[in-house]
Amino acid sequence: MWKATVLTLYPELFPGPLDASVLGRARGEGLWSLETLNIRDFSDNPYGSVDDSPAGGGAGLVMRADILAAAIDSVPRNDRPLLCLSPRGRPFSQSRARTLAAGPGLIALCGRFEGIDQRLIEARNVEEVSIGDFVLAGGEVAAMALIEACVRLIPGVLGSPLSLGEESFSESGKSGRDAGITLLEYPQYTRPRVFEGREIPPVLLSGDHRKIAEWRRAEAEAITRARRPDLFGPGPIRRDNME
Ligand code: SAH
Repeated sequence: MWKATVLTLYPELFPGPLDASVLGRARGEGLWSLETLNIRDFSDNPYGSVDDSPAGGGAGLVMRADILAAAIDSVPRNDRPLLCLSPRGRPFSQSRARTLAAGPGLIALCGRFEGIDQRLIEARNVEEVSIGDFVLAGGEVAAMALIEACVRLIPGVLGSPLSLGEESFSESGKSGRDAGITLLEYPQYTRPRVFEGREIPPVLLSGDHRKIAEWRRAEAEAITRARRPDLFGPGPIRRDNME
């Protein structure tokens, strides 16, 4: 079974949103499992402290390598990658989620304060992963985002696997001139037919499946070109190619 182990100072935040809707149901059905470990339980002092002031001075506190190592070493790896959530990490992507979802699971280390002693990252070969170019107060929300992106790709978790093929960042354009391009999704509509004077685009009500597919493809391309031209180019930030 696919298993996520989260090392955190705030285990009470989990499962949180990971227990809602289809992910929660899938966990109940045994399609994946979640384990949290409180880093504080590995503290070596009566105060339960896990951090200390930064070498070289400066503000804030740094999580100690020895305490984190004890926490990490208590977890059976079972071939799972050891990730650490960090704004300095390699950007997380849909293709990384696909790779992780196809594996045995993951171990996620959530930072707090100023971050983690560099020697722990090196000594335990921790892969730093970022969920975006902004700074959170801790790694927990980032770990939840990462786990959620993986778990919904585990076979059987979502109702209809067909819906995965066309969504944003899926590789719908695998052949011809579009080889390898990942597109953002086309706009979606549902009832009512008219909302505050705005109609559903008539083509979607035409019943002509070829025309509908063409329209959706054109919309997806237009929205991707406008919002994420980097996804088209051989430019430096084709995130989905970074693994
Ligand atoms: N001083 C650090 C920021 C620490 S933020 C720096 O400038 O790089 C505290 C913790 O929040 C981090 O250790 C990390 O686990 C988490 N975090 C913050 N932003 C994140 C992001 N964009 N992606 C993943 N984790 C993040």
